[in-house]
Amino acid sequence: MSREESPIVRPVSPDEGYNWMHRAFLQAFMTHNVMTADEMKPILAHVITAHSMSLSPHAPPSPPDTSTLPDPDRPWTAGDITQPQITNTLQLINAQIEPYDFEIRSIRNQQTKLTTYAFVNKTSDSLTQLATKFSPSEIAYIRRVLDHMFEVNNTHTREVMAVKHTVASQLARPSRRSRQSQINGDADGETSQATVDAGISIQEADAVLDTLVAQSFFQKSRAGYYALAPRGLMELTPYLKETYNDDDDDPDDVIIRIRDCEGCREIVTYGVRCNNRDCGVRWHDACANSYYRGRARDQRGCPKCGTVCEGMCMWGEGG
Ligand SMILES: [Zn+2]
Ligand SMILES: [Zn+2]
Repeated sequence: MSREESPIVRPVSPDEGYNWMHRAFLQAFMTHNVMTADEMKPILAHVITAHSMSLSPHAPPSPPDTSTLPDPDRPWTAGDITQPQITNTLQLINAQIEPYDFEIRSIRNQQTKLTTYAFVNKTSDSLTQLATKFSPSEIAYIRRVLDHMFEVNNTHTREVMAVKHTVASQLARPSRRSRQSQINGDADGETSQATVDAGISIQEADAVLDTLVAQSFFQKSRAGYYALAPRGLMELTPYLKETYNDDDDDPDDVIIRIRDCEGCREIVTYGVRCNNRDCGVRWHDACANSYYRGRARDQRGCPKCGTVCEGMCMWGEGG
C-alpha cells in the first residue's frame, strides 16, 4: 500500500529519505546564502508542515511529543526542530548535491561562536566564482583588499587580518608599484596582462564592499574594519593558503600567514595566540579555553613550544 493510500497517518519527519521537503528547504537555504541553526529551524518547521499537509491534508502534521502538547493538530514550530534533525536534513541534501560539487558546510563564527552554515562550491577557486558577480577590475580590487588583510595587516608583530574602511577605499586604485608588477608579470609569470588595470572609483569600491557584506563574504565591525565572514573563510581558505602561505621545501623560507586553530584545526583569523611571538600556535578563544580549562597556571604549556600561557593574548582585529 502506498503512502498516499494509507489510512494511517505516517509521522513525517526529516529522518525520511530525500524528498520534496528537502528540495524546498534547499531552495530556501540558497536564497539566504548563510544561516545559523536557529535561522534554519522555522524554515524547516514550515516545509515539514507543508509536506505533511500535502501527504494527508486532513491529518495532523504530527510534531514530536504530541502527547504533551495541548493541540496535537498544530503545525510544526521552530521549537520542535532538534539539532539531529537539522544535521540529518543537511546530510541528505549534501548527498544529493555532492555530484554537482556543492556542499552545505558549517564553520563556527569566530566572534559570535555560533555555528554558521553556508552553501559552497567545493571545487572552484572562490574568486573565480565571484567572477560571475563582479567585473575583472572589481575582482582585481578584491584581491588588493585581501592582500592588504593577509599581507600588509598580517605581520610578525601585528596580525590584524582585517582592513579599515578608509584604507579599503584607498585600494580602489592599484598602487604604482603593483601596476608595474602587472606590466612585468608576477615572478612566476602567471599574470602578464595586456591591459593595465586602472582600478575602480571609490564609489565602485564601496559598492563592491557592500555586496560582499550583503552576501556574507565580508563582515564589517563596529570599529569600521572589514574582515572575512564565516562564508568568506569557508570558501576562500584554499585560495588564502595557496596565495599567502609559502610551504617551501627549504624550512628557512617557509612563510605561514594563514593558520589553523591548534584545537579544532579549522582556519583561524581571530582569537588567541601563543605567548611566544615566534611560535605559530593560534587558537579560537573557545578552543584555547577548552584546552587549558582545569589546568594549574604552570601547567598551561603551549602544546608546541611549551611556553606557559600567561592569560589570553588576543590577536586578530584589535588584538
Ligand atoms: Zn578552533
Ligand atoms: Zn607556542
